[in-house]
Amino acid sequence: MKPVKVGICGLGTVGCGTFNVLQRNGDEISRRAGRDIVVAQVGARRENPNADTRGIDITADIFAVATNPEIDIVVELIGGYDVARKLVLTAIENGKHVVTANKALIAVHGNEIFEAAQKNNVIVAFEAAVAGGIPIIKAIREGLAGNQINWLAGIINGTGNFIMSEMREKGRDFADVLAEAQALGYAEADPTFDVEGIDAAHKLTILASIAFGIPLQFDKAYTEGISAITQDDVTYADELGYRIKHLGISRRTDEGIELRVHPTLIPKQLLLANVEGVMNAVMVDGDAVGQTLYYGAGAGAEPTASAVVADVIDVVRMLVSEQGHRVPHLAFQPSRLLDLPVLPVEEIHTAYYLRIHAIERPGVLAHITKIFGDSGINIEAIIQKETTAEQVPVIILTQRVKERVMNDALAQVEALDDILGKVTRIRVELLKD
Ligand code: NAP
Repeated sequence: MKPVKVGICGLGTVGCGTFNVLQRNGDEISRRAGRDIVVAQVGARRENPNADTRGIDITADIFAVATNPEIDIVVELIGGYDVARKLVLTAIENGKHVVTANKALIAVHGNEIFEAAQKNNVIVAFEAAVAGGIPIIKAIREGLAGNQINWLAGIINGTGNFIMSEMREKGRDFADVLAEAQALGYAEADPTFDVEGIDAAHKLTILASIAFGIPLQFDKAYTEGISAITQDDVTYADELGYRIKHLGISRRTDEGIELRVHPTLIPKQLLLANVEGVMNAVMVDGDAVGQTLYYGAGAGAEPTASAVVADVIDVVRMLVSEQGHRVPHLAFQPSRLLDLPVLPVEEIHTAYYLRIHAIERPGVLAHITKIFGDSGINIEAIIQKETTAEQVPVIILTQRVKERVMNDALAQVEALDDILGKVTRIRVELLKD
């Protein structure tokens, strides 16, 4: 059979990784795919010393790859929203299958892209878009297909996890670790997407869709970053038996789907709590299988290329298959996606860690606990730390309660004369059921 021809658009970190893995492992890949797979064209504005592209047709115009009649599969590795969207839609209209690592693109424009792919009878594969090298899309979409998924929770941004790990292990401050992450190349010059949870929300949006069979709804995801976490919170959480992780959590409830990214205390004995540095991990709870955990490198040239190339092989195997015989893009048949509401964060149920700074006066604890008692909020643990400058930090762990109820109670606590400033509030998840 004729080799399958791939066009790679974008020769950056992942583009080079993909090119190199396809070249180096060509024989093994061909044995798996049943066909030779060749890189027939690369769309790149400049050379990259990390890939030896001698003899390869290089064009500065990525759209020339998307319209090249010779190309069977377009691999989109340029990143970003608008040009990538146009490129992918052009490739689809030209009858090309597409492989992408672009989570922002899929989370925001995925519904439109999959509809176009369906219409043009082509595949858009996106394993590398979530958790880099971990085959989490395949695991949920195929391996767990017999389950009703109850919830999933993941450390899906390596930069954020690196910062949280360094803060805990070395007692360093957020700003200091972020500067190092930037120097090491983990964090972008503009780290907003990583530390504010936007990148994780892109990935969580995709995971929720394939887990619950709902359309992609990035605009409904709740995101909260890690920049407000202090060394005190890390230490107090540890004393209480918890670690703080920047988690993406999606849960099916009777009222709708929870879709949220925020710092979260989780019990420190959990495997997920021990995922350190830039590594990623996703925990998935299915009704039949119970809890499962997927761990590995969430980024980097070759770990990400591992997922991109696996998608290319999958596409090659399915080239001659009819639409109805393929795994649906979002795991469920497009006509059977559910219109479940994504819950506003005020409607979620979770437990809380609270750090309250009070003036040291008799009766202050009683005032606080009365407000919680009157609001129906059960306290799990309460610790009064050493007084500093006549202030006493009070740490409270609560049981699960609706966020709206907690917001109302905290507004009352903050209005007390004895309370200084705003209460620090971090959500707590036991990840048991
Ligand atoms: P990158 O290193 O910045 O590479 C992107 C490349 O695309 C650059 O070489 C850039 O060229 C090129 N490019 C952008 N627009 C172009 C255009 N209009 N025409 C021609 N070339 C263009 O980014 P990356 O880290 O490889 O990421 C690529 C994608 O993979 C992103 O969607 C990212 O989210 C995703 N991803 C990355 C990782 C990772 O570990 N890096 C992991 C998982 C997923 P110039 O240098 O000329 O701008």
